[in-house]
Amino acid sequence: MGTSTSSKIEKDFTDLGEEIPENLIGIENKSNTCYANSVIQSLYFCKEFKENLLSSKSLPNSLTKHMQDLFLLMKSSKKKTEVISAKAFIQQVKRLNILFDNENHHDSHEFLIWVLGTLDEELKKVGKSWIEDVFAGKSVTQFICLTCESISNREELFIDLSLDVMQNTSLISSLNSFTKPERMSEENKFHCDYCSCKQEAERRTLIKNTPQVLICHLKRFKYSEQYRRYTKLNYRVAFPCQLRLDNTLEENDGKIYELYSIIVHSGPGFQIGHYMSFVKINEYWIRFDDDYIERADENMIQYIFGSPRDVGSAPCGYILFYRLVNKF
Ligand SMILES: [Zn+2]
Repeated sequence: MGTSTSSKIEKDFTDLGEEIPENLIGIENKSNTCYANSVIQSLYFCKEFKENLLSSKSLPNSLTKHMQDLFLLMKSSKKKTEVISAKAFIQQVKRLNILFDNENHHDSHEFLIWVLGTLDEELKKVGKSWIEDVFAGKSVTQFICLTCESISNREELFIDLSLDVMQNTSLISSLNSFTKPERMSEENKFHCDYCSCKQEAERRTLIKNTPQVLICHLKRFKYSEQYRRYTKLNYRVAFPCQLRLDNTLEENDGKIYELYSIIVHSGPGFQIGHYMSFVKINEYWIRFDDDYIERADENMIQYIFGSPRDVGSAPCGYILFYRLVNKF
């Protein structure tokens, strides 16, 4: 955690001979709340999320209302950069979910999914929810019976894609293994409705509807039977600034997404460690580390791909936020 206030970011922009493009507000970390601070910054700079949130109806004492208040505080700051406290929002989180009602470290992915789910429920109570409009995509899992060749489809909404990671690979290879066809045989046969019995089959998941904002969660925390706890995979997994998504049903192939935010974890596991977030504003990458904000360069982005030898507690890209830029 940085100790200085946000004066570093002012100096970074003065050195460039430029003005800070929009409010860049740091958030205090008084009790291990970096898991929440990193999620707040990634959602604050998601313009589709922020605009919808600030124009939504909300009930008093709801998570929606507390998040609106927090975002308004960040947005309406007279200073282009300063440090605020998110205490009221965090207290509401603790009141609503016992899991977060302590001073422990938490998994920022678990927190993000809970926030989006809770907002979705609350918005539905007072009108229409826009959470799915922004983040939801639809996947289709196809089962092809290898005896009669019939195809059964199972469709599912997703808010994010949770992807397995392998050493010295990339987001593209994680997406490709997510959509790779798999043989179902022996104990794992598929019940074919046409054959009316269990048969060998091929299973494949593809993306049917692509979301406006694609959240990719890299599964870096893995339960170890040997150590009887979650360990962290520090693997180096490269991710592109521009992603061409080809893991879809043919007619949707080739959509272009642009990376706009990254939540980074450093440390040996989610119970011990630290989160920060990187956000792209205009052409600049900015690093938000609780109350400390600075400009980041491309080298820093490559550094957070992870460790090529899976050693130590390297800073690793953990949650990636991509925004759809066109339909080609
Ligand atoms: Zn069949």
